[in-house]
Amino acid sequence: MAERGSRERTILAVDIGGTKTAAALVRARRARTSAAAPPVVLHKTVVVTDQSSAEACLGGVLAVVGALGEWAAGHSAAAEGMGVGTASMVDFARGRIVESVNLPLRDVPLRDVLRQRFGLPVVVDNDATAATLGEHTFGAGVGTRDMLMLTLGTGVGGGIIAGGRPYRGHSGAAGELGHVLVDIDGPPCPGNCANRGCLEAYVSGRAMGAAALAEARAKPASALGRALAAGETVDGPMLTRLALSGDADAVRLVARTGEYLGAGLVTLVNVFNPELVVVGGGAAAAGELLLAPAREVLAARGLRPQRDEVRIVPARFGADAGLVGAAALALTELF
Ligand SMILES: [Zn+2]
Repeated sequence: MAERGSRERTILAVDIGGTKTAAALVRARRARTSAAAPPVVLHKTVVVTDQSSAEACLGGVLAVVGALGEWAAGHSAAAEGMGVGTASMVDFARGRIVESVNLPLRDVPLRDVLRQRFGLPVVVDNDATAATLGEHTFGAGVGTRDMLMLTLGTGVGGGIIAGGRPYRGHSGAAGELGHVLVDIDGPPCPGNCANRGCLEAYVSGRAMGAAALAEARAKPASALGRALAAGETVDGPMLTRLALSGDADAVRLVARTGEYLGAGLVTLVNVFNPELVVVGGGAAAAGELLLAPAREVLAARGLRPQRDEVRIVPARFGADAGLVGAAALALTELF
């Protein structure tokens, strides 16, 4: 008899982000301990997220899912369920968006809206929690029981797997790992966070871009300074590119970012005692240039045995992490 949940499913995976909304029809299967093949994308649509109003934003989501459903009907690939990751605080039990930082969606019963419109079982969760499930089901975290994930994007997202299951807290808002304090007198945290000196204020793509710009202004003769003088956009991706090409100033800045990441990891690893921390997101593209300094800080400052037991590794999935996560969410929660 087949292991429960191991049957291949056809899933509508939806990723609602502040910049783009992606939806894909995928076929996916869960494996418990060995590396599962990642979801196979049958068809995918990406649209710019409409930020003008809640109605327009929601309308855009319904349109992109509707178009995908029509494609599925025309190709005999009927979806069995829908998984949705959204850049929002989600009341998981009710499938309801409570609040969003970078989306005009607040108090939206998204699960019920989608279920009524498309007549499918639907599960809605925070996008970072979904991405964490994606790595746990198909990626770097397969086979682990206790893992954390940090997603370094425009902001910093986080997710927690505890005892083999996603940990969502009392109402579903747990896992804001980017808001661990690393400096009580640090810069104000961007977005809706009232705190200052959060990890997010140092290791997000936005923070790396700001550090690169400050370096360019302070050192006009550096590669960053020359790029600024030439009118180029000095941002996080440029910093990462220069670091990967071996520019010493950029390598040092990325390493400094890695040390802040390590400082945040000290707290997280001490508290959660995970066996694995997965670091993903576009701002983590410098790879070992970022992760090696983070590991050094953790090794020097973390508590034992936690610091000795944990592995800090890059994520498997890049641009498709949200869709892979939404598919994993549906597999985990619906079937
Ligand atoms: Zn914060």
